[in-house]
Formats: sequence, structure tokens, C-alpha cells
Amino acid sequence: MAKRDYYEVLGVAKNSSPDEIKKAYHKLALKHHPDRNPGDKEAEEKFKEAAEAYGVLQDAEKRRQYDQFGHQGSGFTGGPGFNNVEDIFSAFSDIFGGSIFGDMFGGGGGRQGTRTRGRRGASLRCSITLEFTDVVEPVEKVISLRRNESCDTCHGSGAKQGTSPSTCPQCDGAGVVMTSAGFFSMRSACPRCQGRGEIITDPCAKCGGSGRVAREREITIKIPPGIEDGMTLRVAGEGEAGENGAPSGDLLCDVHIKPHPLFKRAGADVYLVLPIGFAQAALGATVDVPTLKGKAEFKVARGTQSGQVLRMRGEGFPKLDGYGKGDQLVEIAIEVPSKLTKDQERILREFADTEEKNISPERKSFLDKVRKMFSK
Ligand SMILES: [Zn+2]
Ligand SMILES: [Zn+2]
Repeated sequence: MAKRDYYEVLGVAKNSSPDEIKKAYHKLALKHHPDRNPGDKEAEEKFKEAAEAYGVLQDAEKRRQYDQFGHQGSGFTGGPGFNNVEDIFSAFSDIFGGSIFGDMFGGGGGRQGTRTRGRRGASLRCSITLEFTDVVEPVEKVISLRRNESCDTCHGSGAKQGTSPSTCPQCDGAGVVMTSAGFFSMRSACPRCQGRGEIITDPCAKCGGSGRVAREREITIKIPPGIEDGMTLRVAGEGEAGENGAPSGDLLCDVHIKPHPLFKRAGADVYLVLPIGFAQAALGATVDVPTLKGKAEFKVARGTQSGQVLRMRGEGFPKLDGYGKGDQLVEIAIEVPSKLTKDQERILREFADTEEKNISPERKSFLDKVRKMFSK
């Protein structure tokens, strides 16, 4: 792929001064900075392109070679360049760690200076089991876990009290070492200090120099109402402590919700099968229906059929987006008595006699279908 001319990339003249080049780069780097354009691949490419151009033009010797031989001569065609944004931050620490980015991005969250700061803490996982009706309202659960926390004796530095980590002699605190091969300069993390730029000569007795200690903790987890079985809650910053003051990881809680003997759930809606008597269905009735919060009076209309699903608005779970609630869906199941008293039987027989002369529409259409089936 053809590469754009470095002067063109930075938008400066061929004879521009180092200061003009630096200013042009500042402007571009700010514009395409990944913190300002999260997830924007094009901006990231432009950011890298500008960094590569600046990397060559800010260096008098490299600039001279580039002026003379172009991309070929500078050794930057497909050369190491900058594979990722972190490389750029560490290469131009004078810019990123200093005034511009320091002020604008509050230090860039772990991108200060040349050193690779400690790694972010690992995420931890836990699981919480809740009763079916627990999540109708916001609820808190306390869980215990063992995690690595920042050592409070050395405040995470790993150095013995009264001492502090000293500058790594191998990389002189840069955290990276350079190896040159012809035009190429390879950068890699310093093997002595693992890129931290510091080494601990006098380790803290409590944490053995790691800066972290394991602790048992009880953590209160706020559970948003309406959460569903199988979802995972992310509790930011409650995972393991990061290395050397880097941010902590997160705590991920897998949520399990126990089934309920009466209710079933579909999203924010709750579903219930309500058995009612044949007479209640035929004549209509007011019955008590269990709900997530207790019970409610429910009107069964005259002539309600078995299998009919009726809706009780707003009696479901809170919706997870915070807007409103689901419904309770009540499926009617008409129970046929399996035992009858003498009186009931007598009445029902009388009823059946009247029914023969006055067949209900449902039944009529059923009988019609049966007749058709056998008349073929
Ligand atoms: Zn310590
Ligand atoms: Zn080092």
C-alpha cells in the first residue's frame, strides 16, 4: 500500500522547523486521540499515521534520511512503526505525559510517562441465588470473597516502609529498551523491571514486594429489580487490585433465580395458571389471585372459557430499562369436579337435560365436526 508523504500527513511544508512539526503533530494527535474517538478505527489509523510521521520528522537524522530517500530510505516501509496506541504513548512521552495530554485527559489513566504502569487487576466471578419474588423490588445481597487488595503497609508500591522503589538501572526508568538493527529500532519492555521502570530493592515485609495482599471481604451487591435468571451483574472496581496502583478489576456476579411453584416468568411478564370452578366460569365470579406482591381481587367474566388468558396490567416485574412494569398473565383452567355430592349430581343431571335442548355454540361446532368426520 502506498504511504502518504510524512509532510503531507502532518500538513507542514518540507522546510518547516522542528517546532512547526511538533505543533502540527500536537494538533492532529489531539484531534484523533483514541480517548476522544472511542471505537473509531479511522481516527485510530490517523492517530498512528501522524505518530509515525512525527516519529521520523522530529528526529534530525531520520528526517535527513527521509528527505533524501523517501519511505524506502527511511526504513519505515512496513517497518516496526507503531502497532498499537500504547507504543505511541510510550514513544512520545514528552508530549503525552507532559502538558497537553496531562491536562486534557487527566493523565490519560495509566498512560502517563514512558513506563507501562502496572496491569489492571483481574476480574472476579461470583454467583448469587435469589428467590423468585426477591427481584420485584431493589434488593441487596452480601457475598464473601477472597481477593487481592492493595497492601496498606506499602500502599501498593511493594517497597518497605520508609523506602521507595528505585529507578531500574537497565532501562534508566524508561520501562523499555531499544535494540537497533540498521534503520530499525525495536522497542520492547525492559526485562529487568517488566516495563515498570522501577525495581524494588527493599521489599515490603507484609506483601513480599508484590504490593498486594489477599483479604476476605464481604461485599454488598445492589441488585436491580427485574433482573432475570442467567444474567450477569458487573460490579465495577470490586475485583482484584491492580498492580502498582493500576485500577482494580470488576466483580462479575452470575444471577440465579429459583423457580416458583405457581409463577413462571417471560421477561417482565409473569404467568400463572388459575384453576376455577365450572360454575364460576359460567356465571362469573370475583376470586383472589396470587400476585408477586401478595394477592389481588380478580374478576372472572361470565362465560369465561378454559385456556383463556387474561391480563392484569402492571402486576409483573419492573422492566430492566427502568420504564414501567410487565403484566401478570392469568390462564384460566376450568376444573371439573371429580367427586359430586348427591345434591350436586342431581342438579347437574337436571342441567344436562336442559343442555341437550339448548346446546352451547362451542359444543355445537365440535359436534358438527365430529359428524362430518364420520359421514365421509
Ligand atoms: Zn506491602
Ligand atoms: Zn527496567
